[in-house]
Amino acid sequence: MIRRVASSDALRVRFWGIRGSTCASGPQFVEFGSHTPCIEVRCGERLFILDAGTGLSAFGSELGPSAPDKIDILLSHLHLDHISGLPFFKPALLAKERVIRTYCGNLEGESAMEPLNRIFAPPLFPVRLGQLPARFEHHGFKAGEPLTLDDGARIETHLLNHPGGATGFRISHRGRSVCYISDVEHSDVWPDPGLQHFVRDADLMIFDGMFSDAEYSYCRGWGHSTWQKGVELAQSAGVKSLAIFHLYPGHDDGFLKAAEVEMQAVMPTAFMARERQSFIFEPMEDNMDMNCSEPALAQAGGG
Ligand SMILES: [Zn+2]
Ligand SMILES: [Zn+2]
Repeated sequence: MIRRVASSDALRVRFWGIRGSTCASGPQFVEFGSHTPCIEVRCGERLFILDAGTGLSAFGSELGPSAPDKIDILLSHLHLDHISGLPFFKPALLAKERVIRTYCGNLEGESAMEPLNRIFAPPLFPVRLGQLPARFEHHGFKAGEPLTLDDGARIETHLLNHPGGATGFRISHRGRSVCYISDVEHSDVWPDPGLQHFVRDADLMIFDGMFSDAEYSYCRGWGHSTWQKGVELAQSAGVKSLAIFHLYPGHDDGFLKAAEVEMQAVMPTAFMARERQSFIFEPMEDNMDMNCSEPALAQAGGG
């Protein structure tokens, strides 16, 4: 693929955490990475963060003082692997005038405030989010309804099949779009028509393919899907590229690389997500090609 400098108005995506459930660690996990879910999405200069797993601490270290004064974190749901990076997010520790806003859609319109205050409080955690220098604001909405942020940014959402529910997001910018579909378990009728409509023609779909079809009979009902179901959904909906995400912490580099080869035989633009890998989608009216930066294969596990 062609590598080049992104225009300032591109849609950009970077993975900071790609594991599901818990971290992985060890030399056998270096290529794909260790951290739990966190993705940086930029629409031009506008920053959105998808989920606040342990990858958020790595991203925060990179952002440092250059972080924007207002930061929006879109939470798929509040399972620990998606929130545990919050108190380790450096921009929250650096500036008093910074506002960090969370958006949560799977609690019937309630915000994440009460559950987060329960988790990040003694005796479970020594410091409350409210004690950090930055100010946290927590907003609730109902998954399935469009989410409009204070600057007018509009994000489409979709309720996902997961214990307690989870929210899928579709972020669009200048004719390009990325869909974040994690955590989700596929339904008996698959591809699910509603989800198929939601992800249709996306440039990139990030999908919870924690398991393989061969493993799935052992993990039915756990709330996660398989890479094969991700491919079926992507191909049925005209999705242009597919990142398999929420990778099982027991799947080492060898397993994932072999699965990736198998997957790419079916869908050549599908791949297993790697930490710090980034993608640039140029504005549609300027350029029809998808341009990817080189995957940073050996940079996993920082922060
Ligand atoms: Zn998860
Ligand atoms: Zn979950």
